[in-house]
Amino acid sequence: MKKIAVVGAGISGLSMANYLEKYKIDYHIYERRKRKDLAGHGFLIPKEGMDYLYQIITPDLLLKNGNFLKKYVQYSHTGKFLAEKDLDNVFAISRHALINLLAQNISQEKISYEETIFYDDQQSDSLKFSDGTNVDADIIVISDGSRSRIRKNLFKDEIMRMVRESEVVNIIQNKEIADSIENDFMKFHHEEGGLTFGILKLSDDTILWYSQFDNQKYTINECSAENLRKYMLEVFENWHPIVPEIIRKSDYKNVHLWNVYELEELNPFYKENTVFIGDAAHPLIPFTSQGVTSALKDSFLLTKYLVEENSVEYAFSKYESERKPEIEVHISNGRILLNQFLLPLNQQTENILPISYK
Ligand SMILES: Cc1cc2nc3c(=O)[nH]c(=O)nc-3n(C[C@H](O)[C@H](O)[C@H](O)COP(=O)(O)OP(=O)(O)OC[C@H]3O[C@@H](n4cnc5c(N)ncnc54)[C@H](O)[C@@H]3O)c2cc1C
Repeated sequence: MKKIAVVGAGISGLSMANYLEKYKIDYHIYERRKRKDLAGHGFLIPKEGMDYLYQIITPDLLLKNGNFLKKYVQYSHTGKFLAEKDLDNVFAISRHALINLLAQNISQEKISYEETIFYDDQQSDSLKFSDGTNVDADIIVISDGSRSRIRKNLFKDEIMRMVRESEVVNIIQNKEIADSIENDFMKFHHEEGGLTFGILKLSDDTILWYSQFDNQKYTINECSAENLRKYMLEVFENWHPIVPEIIRKSDYKNVHLWNVYELEELNPFYKENTVFIGDAAHPLIPFTSQGVTSALKDSFLLTKYLVEENSVEYAFSKYESERKPEIEVHISNGRILLNQFLLPLNQQTENILPISYK
């Protein structure tokens, strides 16, 4: 089998490495960040994604690092009950924990941190290491995330835009709050639309909370921890008391503001010996909760076709033709969920699940 270089050690790059490892295929993975530098949020992972994860992470270990949510309960911002739905084995886990689990099967010699790969079209149209030497591999798997610079260089006409929704996400340790929310995923919605506050439990003493806001209505000028705390306290002051209480009792060392981007139209998933997976191939907005599952399916299928097919080009084209139609469904569902979110509550339809199913 040919030599493979993987660019980016997020969920897609690391899961690709895990599948390559399973088939004993030679690879090396390059990551821009420091090994321990893991800012982030958390994931809701539907059952399908869990089935892919069980193939590469010992189930007991995976389950110890997160929590199954029982039901999704929707409230107005003042706490009026609106609707609820059972969640069929939806798992919640922090990005940090999942990346660490995926990285533990990769030997130190096969991963380089603090290595930014870049595309040099001025000189030789090739991918380079930070010292200027060429990346030497038969196949290059690009998993450098939704704002992939490598993709932008290969597909110069792409149109990327910021989505009309941003998220403030925080992960806190607080047993008292964790006990009070059991295993429900609670989400409060402003009656005028465009603003929500969600709470879910990651473990016995850890919760993740997040706020989704219409960034045309609500603007945050500075994203320091102190400013985000002040902003959250101001905006959610008059919501159901559990919301300002959580905001007040949180520490802000893990708080993060996420702006979300999407492509107006998907690019091809491959060009010559370079193939894209995960958010680099297809940014998905958080409303779909399908980013991780899609990344896992991409790496599983790409590896399978590379093993089964003699021609790399044929393997790439099978991968693309199987994955693209499904991704297009999630993109369209994501846009529907986004439009719903922006509407006043009384105009939103009944489809309340915060997950896109195909
Ligand atoms: C607020 C928020 C909430 C979300 N919630 C969910 C959810 O509930 N469920 C879900 O399934 N998905 C969710 N998602 C989506 C999910 O985060 C992504 O789909 C998933 O993380 C994609 O992983 P990735 O590996 O493709 O990209 P990334 O996680 O972006 O990883 C890319 C990696 O490449 C590295 N890199 C970048 N450029 C270079 C370079 N030039 N050289 C080397 N390395 C490079 C980066 O440092 C990074 O480590 C959410 C996203 C956001 C923003």
